[in-house]
Amino acid sequence: MDDCLFCKIARGDIPSRKVYEDDAIFAFHDINPARPTHLLVIPKKHIVSLATASAADTPVLGRMLAVANRLATENGSPDGFRVIINTGRIGHQEVQHLHAHIVGGPDPVGPMLKRV
Ligand code: AMP
Ligand code: ZN
Repeated sequence: MDDCLFCKIARGDIPSRKVYEDDAIFAFHDINPARPTHLLVIPKKHIVSLATASAADTPVLGRMLAVANRLATENGSPDGFRVIINTGRIGHQEVQHLHAHIVGGPDPVGPMLKRV
C-alpha cells in the first residue's frame, strides 16, 4: 500500500526505531509511548486489522505473538508484558494497518480495562 503509514515504516521509507525485522514482520518503538516499554509489531504485508485478516494470515499472526516475549525482554520488560491489538471503531484502532502493541516496563501495567 503506497499510502499506508505502517507500510512505509516497514519499507524504511519513514524512519522508525526498529527493534526487530524478519521476512514477514517488523517491530519498532511506538512514537508516543504509553509505558516505559511500548513496541509495535506489524506484518510487512498490508493487513488492515484482525477484522480483515484471513486464514492465510495465520502464520504471520502467530509470528507476531511468538516474538513478543523476546522483544519485551530485550526492551525493558523482562517479567511479563501486555499485548493489545485494537481493532476497528469499537477497538479504537487509529492506524489502519494491523499492529500489536507490546506494553510493559519495570512496573505492572495495571488492570486490563476499567469495568463498566
Ligand atoms: P492504534 O490506536 O492501536 O491504532 O495505535 C496506533 C499507534 O501508532 C499509537 O500508539 C501511535 O502512537 C503509534 N504511531 C503513530 N505514528 C507512529 C509512527 N510514525 N511511529 C511509531 N508509532 C506511531
Ligand atoms: Zn499498510
